[in-house]
Amino acid sequence: MTHQIHIHSPDEIDLFRASIRGFVEGELTEARVRAMDDRRALEPELRSQMAQLGWLGLSLPEAYGGSAAGVEMGVVLVEEVSRVFPSLGTLLVLWAMGARAVSQHGSDLQKSQILPRMADGAYALAFGISEPDGGTDALRCKTRATRTESGWRVDGSKLYTSFAAESDAIATLCRTAPLEDGKPSRGLSVILVPRAQDGVETRRMNLMAHRAACTCETYFDDARAAADDLLGEEGRGFKQLLSTLDEERILAAAMYVGIMQGALDGMVAYACDRVAFGKQIGGFQAIQHPIADVATDLEHARLMVSHAARLFDRNEDSSNAAAMAKLFASEAAARATDRGMRVMGGYGLVQEHSMERLFRDARLGLFSPISNEMIRNQIGERLGLPRSY
Ligand SMILES: Cc1cc2nc3c(=O)[nH]c(=O)nc-3n(C[C@H](O)[C@H](O)[C@H](O)COP(=O)(O)OP(=O)(O)OC[C@H]3O[C@@H](n4cnc5c(N)ncnc54)[C@H](O)[C@@H]3O)c2cc1C
Repeated sequence: MTHQIHIHSPDEIDLFRASIRGFVEGELTEARVRAMDDRRALEPELRSQMAQLGWLGLSLPEAYGGSAAGVEMGVVLVEEVSRVFPSLGTLLVLWAMGARAVSQHGSDLQKSQILPRMADGAYALAFGISEPDGGTDALRCKTRATRTESGWRVDGSKLYTSFAAESDAIATLCRTAPLEDGKPSRGLSVILVPRAQDGVETRRMNLMAHRAACTCETYFDDARAAADDLLGEEGRGFKQLLSTLDEERILAAAMYVGIMQGALDGMVAYACDRVAFGKQIGGFQAIQHPIADVATDLEHARLMVSHAARLFDRNEDSSNAAAMAKLFASEAAARATDRGMRVMGGYGLVQEHSMERLFRDARLGLFSPISNEMIRNQIGERLGLPRSY
């Protein structure tokens, strides 16, 4: 039985934050998180725990068992979880993207079959967009889908598909019509390819960061999908994905705010505890001032994320605010965790402290879900500067 979360006032947002923090502090102990990170997999029971708390249905429509909460609430959830365990933050971001894509573009049948199961934690959707030859340049998509008598045949491969091996289906960007000159975004479609079949193979990648997020290489070799597995309109898949991007960027930025908060908590505690030359190291200005800079960056990033989320929830244009929040928060998280490692000296490298994991996990934000160079290109273009690529 999932729990619906009702949020109507700022007080209730604070209560929601406190309840997440209570769960995170009680259940996501450093030892448990470290064990999942080392095993490179989330404990399966975490999904049902999160479903019972109502976290997995947070952004889903109420008609399908969700709470229909806005992105502002998603930001609180992702931030609080990522303070301790960014791999789990990645799962929550993907869940929100899946919920948005199916609610917005799915058929009535897809909505009724998928969304209630997502709220229960019984259905997981991975997103296969990046390919070996196209990450930032996702329009180079070579995976192709062709019509068969009963649906679709999919061939090709994807790279870095988070949680692919643990998913029920992979929302796969496929070329369904030949590339037209000068318009590579046309002729692309999203197909929800069922994962458990002979034509789909997933191989876990041993990455340095987000190790429990089950990042995979995914191969489609005569993979099959039903006609009903097409999400939205044929040939408009890229456009549909664009409509989920602002939310993804805002939630990704919230993840990096969480990482900064975790790093700040860790470095302050250590700076108060560690003694050198007869005094707490936090009493040296060389330690104290950079920590103050991290706290200032954190405040700045949090305000940017919350501004972007509010614009999004009010249906106002949030694209620039989302892009800037993702850019600033991810760069600031990389700086913050680097600073954390310096404050902690040798202990920063010891794997029993969260700083080592937060430092690794912060590296992802510089280029994913979109690289900060590409984000800067987009911000530049919105200022009226010529396209640089
Ligand atoms: C842990 C992890 C999880 C991921 N999860 C998913 C997932 O679930 N689904 C999915 O589809 N993808 C996923 N990705 C892929 C991620 O989105 C890509 O890594 C990202 O889009 C960058 O692509 P790339 O790594 O191929 O880098 P490239 O595109 O090869 O870029 C390399 C460098 O070139 C720069 N560059 C490229 N083009 C330009 C340009 N025009 N102007 C300036 N600089 C440029 C980039 O900024 C970067 O610095 C994941 C990646 C990782 C590591």
